[in-house]
Amino acid sequence: MEKLQEKIWHAMDIEELCRELGADTEQGLNRDEAAARLKKHGPNALQEKPPRSLLSMFIGQMKEVLVLILIAAAVISAGIGEWEDSLVIIIIVILNGVIGVFQEHKAENALKALKDMTKPSAKAVRGGKVLQISAEDVVPGDLILLEAGDSVPSDARLLEAASLEVNESALTGESLPVEKNPAVIRDGEVPVGDRKNMLFMGTTINAGRGKAIVVETGMKTQLGRIAELLDEAVPGATPLQKRLNKLGKVLGAAAAAIVALVFLIGYLRGEDLLEMFMVSISLAVAAIPEGLTAVVTIVLALGVTRMSRRRAIVRKLPAVETLGTATVICSDKTGTLTKNEMTVTRIVLPGQHFDITGTGYNPEGKILDQAGKESPPRGDLKFMLVSGLLSSDAQLEETAQGHRVIGDPTEGALIVAAAKAGFNKNIYERESPRLAEIPFDSKRKMMTTFNQMEGAVRSLTKGAPDVLLARCGFILNNGRAFELTEDERARLLEINSELASRGQRVLALATREWPGVPPEPGAELVERNLTFVGFFAIVDPPRPEAREAVAVCHRAGIRTVMITGDHRDTAVAIARELQIIRSGEASMTGDELEKMSDQELKKRINEVTVFARVSPEHKLRIVEALKHHGHVVAMTGDGVNDAPALKRADVGAAMGITGTEVAKEAADIVLQDDNFATIVKAVEEGRTIYNNIRSSIQYLLSCNTGEIAAIFSALSLGLGSPLSPIQILWLNLVTDGPPALALGLEPPKKGIMEKPPRGIREGFFAGGVGSGILWQGIMIGLLSLAAYWLALDRGRTLEEARTMAFITMAMSQLVHSFNVRSREQSLFTLGFFTNRSLVLSFIVSTAALLSVVFTPFLREVFETVILRPWDWGAVFILSIVPLFMEETRKLTLRLRNLR
Ligand code: ATP
Repeated sequence: MEKLQEKIWHAMDIEELCRELGADTEQGLNRDEAAARLKKHGPNALQEKPPRSLLSMFIGQMKEVLVLILIAAAVISAGIGEWEDSLVIIIIVILNGVIGVFQEHKAENALKALKDMTKPSAKAVRGGKVLQISAEDVVPGDLILLEAGDSVPSDARLLEAASLEVNESALTGESLPVEKNPAVIRDGEVPVGDRKNMLFMGTTINAGRGKAIVVETGMKTQLGRIAELLDEAVPGATPLQKRLNKLGKVLGAAAAAIVALVFLIGYLRGEDLLEMFMVSISLAVAAIPEGLTAVVTIVLALGVTRMSRRRAIVRKLPAVETLGTATVICSDKTGTLTKNEMTVTRIVLPGQHFDITGTGYNPEGKILDQAGKESPPRGDLKFMLVSGLLSSDAQLEETAQGHRVIGDPTEGALIVAAAKAGFNKNIYERESPRLAEIPFDSKRKMMTTFNQMEGAVRSLTKGAPDVLLARCGFILNNGRAFELTEDERARLLEINSELASRGQRVLALATREWPGVPPEPGAELVERNLTFVGFFAIVDPPRPEAREAVAVCHRAGIRTVMITGDHRDTAVAIARELQIIRSGEASMTGDELEKMSDQELKKRINEVTVFARVSPEHKLRIVEALKHHGHVVAMTGDGVNDAPALKRADVGAAMGITGTEVAKEAADIVLQDDNFATIVKAVEEGRTIYNNIRSSIQYLLSCNTGEIAAIFSALSLGLGSPLSPIQILWLNLVTDGPPALALGLEPPKKGIMEKPPRGIREGFFAGGVGSGILWQGIMIGLLSLAAYWLALDRGRTLEEARTMAFITMAMSQLVHSFNVRSREQSLFTLGFFTNRSLVLSFIVSTAALLSVVFTPFLREVFETVILRPWDWGAVFILSIVPLFMEETRKLTLRLRNLR
C-alpha cells in the first residue's frame, strides 16, 4: 500500500498503469474484484471526526451555567440538611440532561440521514456495463466516465478527453478552468496544477467529457493528504437559531434581573432568606429560556425529515426559513414543469414531412408519410434518422418495467424514432464509428460529432433550429446539397415556429463533409457552412400536477417564472397550458435580455413570466433583477453553469435525477423527483415549520412569563411564594418542554397556502405574537395567583394553597398549549385531536402531574397535598379560563377581519 502512494501516475504509459493497477480500459473491473478492493482500500471518502459520544453530549449539557447553578443549589440544600430537596434537584438535573442528550442525538441523526441522501455518485464501467455507483464505492483500478457537471470522485489518470475542462480551484486555488488531455507527461516532478493528464478528487468537470482510471482513493488522494479531518455533518446555526440565541440572552438577562428583584422583594418583605434564595434560583432556571434554541433545532431537524418524505432534501438548514418567505419561484421547463419523456412525433424534411406513431420510449410505432401511408425509411429520411442516432450519447435499455433511456431524454427520443424504423444503434455505431465530438453545451445549444460514414468523414450537428439554421449555407434534397436561399431559411423558421407554438420541442439536424477530422475541432470552426437536413418535432407533455402547483403558488402570493433553453413559442405554449403566463404578462428571449442593461432588465422584470432560449448565465442576471425588487427568489437548476445562479438565489433547488453534482453542491435543496410540485410542497413545509417554531416559542415564553408573574405579584402582595422551588423546576421540565416540542410537530394547516408569504424582515414577535406572549403569560400567572389567594383566604394551609397554585399553573399551561396552535383559527375548527403529539403530551404531562399529587412518596417530595373536592373544582375552572379567553380573542379577530 505504501509503495502505491509513491507511484508517479502521470508519467506512466497506459499499459504500465493498467498492469500496476490491474485495470482494464474497456471492460473496467468486474464486480467481485471491485468488492474485494473496496474491502482492502476502504471507502473512497475523506475521514470525518468521529461523532460525539452520548457521554460527551451529556457532559456538554452539564456544563450549562444554569445547570451549574442548580448543582450549587443542590449542594447548599444538602449542606443545611435538606437532603430530599437536594436529591430531587439532582434527579431533575440528570433528567434534564438525559432529555437534552436524547433531543440533540435525534436532531443530529436526522441531519446526518439527510446528508446521506445527497451523497455524490459516480459513473463507473464494471464488467463492461456503465453503472451509477456511490462515489464512496469507487476503488483503485476503476474505469470511470465523467462529463460536465460531475465532481471527480477520486484521483484518476485520463484515458480519453473530449474538450475536457476541469475546475481545480478546490485543490489548487486556481479559479480558471484547466484544459486536460491524456498525453503522458514524462517529467516526473510536476506540480499538481500542471498534471494535465490527471483528475483529482474534489475538483469538478466544467465542460466536455472524459474517461479515466482511478489511481488513488480516500485519504490517499491529493485532497485527502491536505485535508484536515472533516467536521461531522452537523452544520452551524441557522440565522433563525442565531437570532433566537441572541433573543434568549436578552430575555435571560431580563429574567435574571426580575428574579433578582423577586429576591429583593422577598427579603424586604421579611421572607425566609434561604427559601427566597431557592425560589429565586429555581425561578431563574425556569424563566431563562434556555430551551429556545434546543426546541428550534429539533423542530427544524424533524421538519426537514418530513420534507424529505415529500421528496425535497434540505442541504442547508437556513433554506427552510427562507422557503417560507419565497415570493418568486423561477423554474426550468424541461423535466420540472414537463415530464421530460420525449417522443419524436414528426420529422420535417425540405418539402415533405412524416408522422411517427407510438408513445414514450417503447420502440414500437410506424412512420407515416403525408398521405398517412406507412413509409419505408429511405434516402434523406434514412439519413436523418441514422444521423440522429449516431450523434446521440443516450442508451435505450429494456427492463422488466419497459424501455427506459439512460442519458439525455431528447437524445433518447431520437434513438427510439430510429428504432421504430428498424435502425439499431449498436449496428450503426460499428458501421459508422464516431471519430471526434464537440459536446453539447446549453450556451451553444448544439452538439457535433464526427463519424466515418460511407467512406467519408462527416460532421453531424444537431441543436436548436434558430441557432443551427444561422450556420447553414446549404440544404439537403434527395441526397444532394443545394444553396439555402433566404426565402427557404425564412420558411424553415416559420415551420419551426409553428411546431413550437404547439408546445413541441424542435431539434434541427445539419451535416458537412470533411476531408478528415480537423486537428483541433473547435465549435467556431466546425459548426459553420452546414447543410440543413431536417427537423425533429418532439413532444414533452406538461406534468399533470404542475398545473395545480402553479395555481397553489398563485393563491399563495408566489409568482411562477419559467426559465428555459427551449424556443420561445414552445415555452409560451407550455406556459399557457400551465397558466404560468396570464394576461398582461410577457415573454423575453435570451437575445433580448442580452441587449438590455441591468437597469432596463430591472424595469421590465416584474412583467415577464417566461424567459426562453436563455443561457445559464442569464439566470444570474434574472435573480439579481428580481432581488433588486425585494423578491425572495427560489431558483431551480441542473447544469454546471447553473451553479452561480443557484448560489445567488435565496433558495437554490437542484434536480435530484437530472442534476449535476456541481448543481447539487451549490443548491440549498435537492428535488429528488425533479418536480415543480415538490418545490411548492417544500414552500408549504417551510411556512409550516416557521409557524410551528413560532408557536413553540410563544408557548415557552408565555409559560415562563406566567411563572414570573405569579411569584412576582404574590411576593409583592406579601403572600409569600405560591410555588415551592421544586414545583417550579417540575413545571419547567414537565409542563413546558413536551408541549413546546409537540407544537413544533403541528401538521400543515389548511389555509397556509392561501396567504401571501410573510415578509423576510418580519420580526419574530410581529403580528401580535409579542403582545400575545405578555398578556397570555400574565393571565396564566394571575390564574395561579388567584388559586393561591383563594386557598389562603379560606384558611387553607400553605401546602394546600401551593398545591392549588401549582396544579392551576400546570393545567392552565397545558390547556393554553392548544390555544397556541393557531393565532386566528378556533380550536373547534382545527379539531382538538389533529395534533396527536400535543394530545399525547397533554395526557402524559397531566398523568405526571396527578402522580405528584396522588403518590404518597412524590407528595412528600413535592410538598403537595390531596385537594378537597371544592378546591379541585376551583382549579378546574381556573385552568380552562385561558381557552375561553383566547377563543374570545380569536373570534373578535375573525369578526374584525370579516368586516
Ligand atoms: P430547461 O432549461 O427548461 O431545462 P432545456 O432542457 O430546453 O430547458 P437546454 O438543455 O439548455 O434547455 O437546451 C436548449 C436547447 O438545446 C433545446 O431547446 C434544444 O434545441 C437543444 N438541445 C437540447 N439537448 C440537446 C442535445 N442533446 N443535442 C443537441 N441539442 C440539444
